[in-house]
Amino acid sequence: MKCLRALVVVLILVVPVMAQKSLVLPPDRIVDLTYAFDANSVYWPTAEQFKLETDFEGMTDKGYFYSAYRYSAAEHGGTHLDSPVHFAKGRYTVDQLPLEQLMGPAIVIDVTEKCATNSDYLVSVADFENWEKRNGKIPAGTIVLLRTGFGKFYPDRKKYLGTEERGAEAVAKLHFPGLDPAAARWITTSRSIKAIGLDTASIDYGQSTLFESHRALFEKNVPAFENVANLDQLPPKGFSVIALPMKIKGGSGGPLRIIALL
Ligand SMILES: [Zn+2]
Repeated sequence: MKCLRALVVVLILVVPVMAQKSLVLPPDRIVDLTYAFDANSVYWPTAEQFKLETDFEGMTDKGYFYSAYRYSAAEHGGTHLDSPVHFAKGRYTVDQLPLEQLMGPAIVIDVTEKCATNSDYLVSVADFENWEKRNGKIPAGTIVLLRTGFGKFYPDRKKYLGTEERGAEAVAKLHFPGLDPAAARWITTSRSIKAIGLDTASIDYGQSTLFESHRALFEKNVPAFENVANLDQLPPKGFSVIALPMKIKGGSGGPLRIIALL
């Protein structure tokens, strides 16, 4: 009995502390960083587009409404996650990514001005250093979001990708900003981040042929979020991100629902 009373006292004292530590839901504001998937979703010129077909939609003969659809698409298109195995043998597949790596405090590095006059802009080490001069060192465990401003063009393929053509020959005509491979190496060696994302179709810029930023990040098991929406609605720091991809067993990536909690 004494033991039980002690337990109750412990619970009364400890439980509120645990509650304080846990996430407050819903937060003041939630920003959806995800584009809806439809026939206009932006996919790589060589990838299968998102397709939604109707299995049934309407009144059944028993008098109730029923709808069901089926979808198909490549892993890499629309708002999606690139898992490290996409460019690094033996690294995490999408189902292997630890959940704690897909949520946490996040920052936005805004390079909109530079990208407005240069659609081949590479986000540089200097851009990270400038952010740090104003906001302090990027803390370990941060999720980094790069805002190029190209999100405002989505899903206009001509403006967003540089070409609306499809097929293998369109790839050389892609023009959009991305992460400088030197900056990818810097962020994965000089800092310790959980993940990185941006508002273009690829973490490497459109003109990349060797995908060196993908390779540098994924070698270190740092996943990338691509075609991230609504980065203009986020502050430079002081918010959290939750980014949960479809759990495709053995997948190299997949559709992503990503949100910011402010
Ligand atoms: Zn991808």
